[in-house]
Amino acid sequence: MHVLILGGTTEARRLAEILAAEPRPGLSVMNSLAGRVAAPRLPPGEVRVGGFGGAEGLARWLCEHEVGALIDATHPFAGTISFNAARAAATAHVPLLALRRPGWVPVEGDVWHEAGSLEEAAGLLPSLGRRIFLTTGRMGLAAFAAPSDLWFLVRSVDAPEAPAPARMEVLLDRGPFTLHGERELLRRHRIDVVVTKDSGGAATAPKLAAAREAGLPVVVVRRPPAPTGVPVVGEPEAAADWIGERLHLGTFPDAG
Ligand code: NAP
Repeated sequence: MHVLILGGTTEARRLAEILAAEPRPGLSVMNSLAGRVAAPRLPPGEVRVGGFGGAEGLARWLCEHEVGALIDATHPFAGTISFNAARAAATAHVPLLALRRPGWVPVEGDVWHEAGSLEEAAGLLPSLGRRIFLTTGRMGLAAFAAPSDLWFLVRSVDAPEAPAPARMEVLLDRGPFTLHGERELLRRHRIDVVVTKDSGGAATAPKLAAAREAGLPVVVVRRPPAPTGVPVVGEPEAAADWIGERLHLGTFPDAG
């Protein structure tokens, strides 16, 4: 009974923790990371790093390792791997579940501007402010690199590479973040606009509350499409239940 978790998210780690907290005879769990982050936070248990070689490579891997359940717990903006997982699972006849945190929903007081892409987000900025808090990660900074009088505070886990905005300060950090910390950051850097992907989840949500408090606009990049026909759950606990049911292992108690 082999389970493969496509990870790189808080939820994937949490699922691995739940499964590891109560080992079952015959159940082995492999966590897969893309290898984008230099020093990733590792989940418990076995970990492999690096791509599979597209949907075909992943289908081969599933067959060779006799995987009985595949969990796509990748980030909602990791569009390629999710489609690869859907194709590979169909080819290899392996049950697939997507563990995808729900998107954020605006509440009263939010001033959100939705964008369909990073490029569209960049196009909105000149009309919204000059000092930008950019939290969309180090990949895709090229969209904000055109010469302009905008200044960027770029927060990312690893240092960004060119092309990137000419006028920027880099803040290397990773969540979870606090409301107090985000409030201070916006104030200290005299931020006019926050830019974020609709990543969802609690770990990076405090920037939205801090922007709301300060009356700042937030440019929210909409999620890319996800494969259809794949069952989706929003919580790691529900994914553990699905695995327990699929592999006839019973339920996994919440690891706390
Ligand atoms: P992507 O565009 O969907 O995937 C590009 C390629 O990277 C895939 O085709 C696959 O290579 C490989 N890959 C992606 N996730 C993998 C995994 N978990 N295990 C093994 N190979 C993987 O993904 P991305 O946006 O570059 O994100 C890469 C990873 O970072 C994801 O695992 C995601 O969970 C995590 N992440 C992404 C974001 C984001 O904003 N995109 C944010 C936080 C975390 P092959 O085709 O060779 O198999």
